[in-house]
This record gives sequence, C-alpha cells and structure tokens, in this order.
Amino acid sequence: MGKVYCNGEFVSGDQAMVPVTDHGFLYGDGVFEGIRSYKGRVFKLREHLKRLYQSAKSIHLDIGVSFEEMHEIVLETYRKNNMPDGYCRLVVSRGKGDLGLSPSNCLESSIFCIVDAISLFPENMYQQGLEVKTVSTRKNSVDSLNPRIKSLNYLNNILAKIEANQAGAMEAIMLNREGYITEGTADNIFIYSGRILKTPPLFAGVLEGITRNAILEIAVKLGMKVKEELFTLHDLYVADECFLTGTAAELISVVKADGRRIGNGVPGEVAKELLAHFRALTESDGSVIF
Ligand code: PMP
Repeated sequence: MGKVYCNGEFVSGDQAMVPVTDHGFLYGDGVFEGIRSYKGRVFKLREHLKRLYQSAKSIHLDIGVSFEEMHEIVLETYRKNNMPDGYCRLVVSRGKGDLGLSPSNCLESSIFCIVDAISLFPENMYQQGLEVKTVSTRKNSVDSLNPRIKSLNYLNNILAKIEANQAGAMEAIMLNREGYITEGTADNIFIYSGRILKTPPLFAGVLEGITRNAILEIAVKLGMKVKEELFTLHDLYVADECFLTGTAAELISVVKADGRRIGNGVPGEVAKELLAHFRALTESDGSVIF
C-alpha cells in the first residue's frame, strides 16, 4: 500500500496506525465510504461525501473538516498514489477516547483515507452470474441501527456473509424483521419482473447505494418502469431477472437464489443494458483527480 492520509498528513501504509483507544476500533463507532475512480475521475465523489456527512450527523459525529476540504483530501490521496483507477476507503472514526462507551472524552474525530488497487469479482462471474442464498441473520432494523447509516459497525453484514459463504454462495440475501428483502451484505438488490424494475425502498432497511441511485436514474432515462417497492423471496424466485449493485461490483446478475434458477439462469438483457450505460457514465461523471 502506498501513501495513506492520516489526520492531516500522508504516511506510508505500514506506518498508518490507529491508537488502541480509538472508538472506531473499540466499538465500531464511526462512519466510512467505499469510493472508486475510473480513468482519473472519482466517480460520484460528491454523492459519497454527502452520504458520509449524513451518516456522521445521524450518529452525532462531528467530522471536523468541511465538505470541500474532504473532497480535496480524497483527490490528494489519489494524486499521492498516482492511481487513476483505484478504490478509496474513507474512514472517520470517533477518535481517541477512554475505555467507556461514551464518546464524551473523544475530543477529535480521526480521518483516514486509503487508496489501493481495486479487487474485483472475476470476469466470468459477470458472464455467468452469481448464486445467492438467503441467510437467517436479519438486517438491522431501521429503529435500532438504521442501515442507511454507513457505520463502522458492519458485524451484522459480516455474519450474513459468513453464513452465505458457509452455505456455498458468494453473497447473502438479507431480509428485514417483516420478512421483506432488503439487500446483500455490501450491495443493493433489484429484480425485473413484468417489465418493471423494482428495488426495495429505503425504509425497508437498506443503504442508499450510490450505484443503486445511478441505476435508477439510468433506467428512468431509458424509459423503463421503475418502482421502489417491498418484495418477498417469492417475488425474487419468479422474477425474470435479478441483479446486485455496488461500488466495487458495479452491476452483477444473480442467476440462482436458494437453489431456484432466476429467469433463464443467465445474466438478463435488462441487466446487460443497464451495466453498459452505467459503465459509460463512469467515464464522464466524477471529480477530476489530475
Ligand atoms: N449496501 C451495503 C450494506 C453496502 O455496504 C454497500 C456498499 N457501500 C451498498 C449497499 C452499495 O452501495 P454503493 O453503491 O454506494 O457502493
């Protein structure tokens, strides 16, 4: 790893350390973003930062630097690492404190920005599609830890990921308390059914994915019928198509869910069309690094 932004300075990756009393480390108390650049542009950086500041506000976390300063921190980290196509992890933790839960002794947030090569799903996954499994771990409910907050506490999703992997699937489908589909462990879900593109509404308990929003926008522009609507596993099993979206994966088709073949069992035409338009967008939309 190259240069990491660490509270106002750039240090080499192996010197980037977090104090043991940082509440991000002790309690998962903080927020983060996973961001990606394409050909020298940081895709939808302002949207990612908006979500970061909203997550922080929701958990009473004062980030301590302005939106525009943070925008520059991310771009400068890309520049320092000379990485036109890379993955960025921006982390804001509650900062150093004592061993108690209360953040009252955490006087200053800690900010880290890491840029590294992106690790992608293998290309054959895009051609063949993905198998998913529903897991018993339910999504955090919106009245406990709202999944719209991109917090450092990802244990809920990690447990779901382990469960899916142990059952032989790459990704999990997570339900909410009421049994409606929410999303994966690090991606949003869409189904295409009866010529309508559907994704769960935010109140179901999902992250407002930047990729999700971009896909919704593209679909509307293409004249597709789009609905943010609750749906069940049955709706997924009988859908014509299903796909997941996220910064790293972009858009990847689901061809099998809980042993049921979805649609024709191969990535669908709607998914392919949306992915092509999404990839075109990544080349023109974003904050210019160099
Ligand atoms: N849901 C969860 C739980 C996630 O962690 C992510 C990844 N940030 C997503 C959805 C997809 O969001 P985005 O498109 O902004 O990467």
